Amino acid sequence: MLIEKPRQFAARILQRHLKGGEFVEDIFEDVIAGSGLKPVDRALVQEITYGCVRWQATLDHIMDKLTNGRIQGPPMRVLLRMGIYQAMMLDRVPDHALVNESVNLARTTGLENHTGFVNAVLRTCVRDRDKLIKEWQDLKKTQPATGWSHPKWLVQRWEKRMTKEELVALLEWNNRPPSVYARLNPLRTLPEKTIETWRADGIGYDFKNYDWVPENLVFELKSLPPLAKLASFQKGSFYIQDPSTLLAAKMLDPQPGERILDLCAAPGGKTTYIAQLIDDDGEIFASDADPERLNLVAENCKRMHITSVSTYSVDELENYRRNGGELFDRVLVDAPCSNTGVIRRRVDLRWRLKPEEITRLRNVQLELLQRATSMLKSGGILVYSTCSLEPEENEQLITAFLEDNPLFDRESERTLFPPRDQVDGAYVARLRRKS
Ligand code: SAM
Repeated sequence: MLIEKPRQFAARILQRHLKGGEFVEDIFEDVIAGSGLKPVDRALVQEITYGCVRWQATLDHIMDKLTNGRIQGPPMRVLLRMGIYQAMMLDRVPDHALVNESVNLARTTGLENHTGFVNAVLRTCVRDRDKLIKEWQDLKKTQPATGWSHPKWLVQRWEKRMTKEELVALLEWNNRPPSVYARLNPLRTLPEKTIETWRADGIGYDFKNYDWVPENLVFELKSLPPLAKLASFQKGSFYIQDPSTLLAAKMLDPQPGERILDLCAAPGGKTTYIAQLIDDDGEIFASDADPERLNLVAENCKRMHITSVSTYSVDELENYRRNGGELFDRVLVDAPCSNTGVIRRRVDLRWRLKPEEITRLRNVQLELLQRATSMLKSGGILVYSTCSLEPEENEQLITAFLEDNPLFDRESERTLFPPRDQVDGAYVARLRRKS
């Protein structure tokens, strides 16, 4: 039997991704699941595939230079992107290995008549690397979208409102693989116990402090085996989420015994933290438009032994409202958004995002806020949050909402900007219903 090598898996994943329609993370999981690859080889496949997608625009620019702009078909494009990525951005692959492996890969991916071309292009790339790197550094300054591999429209949008330093820091941040964070669940296990278990499981961790998070609650995990295999995760001792996501719950400031509505709850990162903040004492209604994702909220609550949360489909919640169900003390609207604050976490998001999407989402966001108003008690708190960095979805949207809803006051708002705050991007506004 032929044993597939890491680069063959990487090529397979990237070819499939190029066809469109699937997230690269999903393809990676699917292809790697039955691969039998060792962890170190999996890590290489992930590094190459995610790197090639993140750096696609830059790699294509270099490819154009090396091939005199000759348009390449999909298999060749994948192969050259992979080779150039390894030559320019990974230091641990020896030059001769990457050229030879690429030529071998050409043989097994239907490019057997083009091995000479692959060999010549990648040899030139390796030979001229210093010059190419210098040109790439210049490109970052003269054409940041290409140099930092982002869509032009997005960079132009950010250029209008950010300083040069902020823009470069954000572009750089978006290309760095994200850290993994765990939020402990003291409702289930004492923090010391969870940490002890991590030590026993060989998981490296770092304490992390943020002004919106209590001490010893959030940890950066340095090495993480598959969660399904981890007893402390299965037992509900922690939840994986970026620290930025905890700000909305903090600003909601839920109190024990209250009735709280989480209108866009799935998969439950904020819902379960709200439950923690009220010591699981109160009534949390978790709703979401996506029934499958709503099931995840129930699963996460079960895993974390949380009992204050009940899930409601959109229809069930609407029936509750129509039938005169009791109003809520606090409502969280963690709205669907363009996700521009979490580009580093979603590998191909930047290439999927379209400017018109932001306009469409604004309408959804306003509708959700409007729906929330009809369920909030007089004097109640309405918190709106996104993981977008776009003012149209954030402060400007709240301004527009307040113009139409003079019964509400903006009590506070905060934006987390990734390079400054060292977490994913987020926006949170806290409003109060006056009467
Ligand atoms: N709050 C969640 C958490 O912390 O885990 C994340 C929520 S995510 C940002 C936005 C959610 O809004 C998605 O789960 C999506 O299914 C849901 N959604 C989208 N449109 C909706 C609508 N019109 N009504 C309710 N939920 C909606």
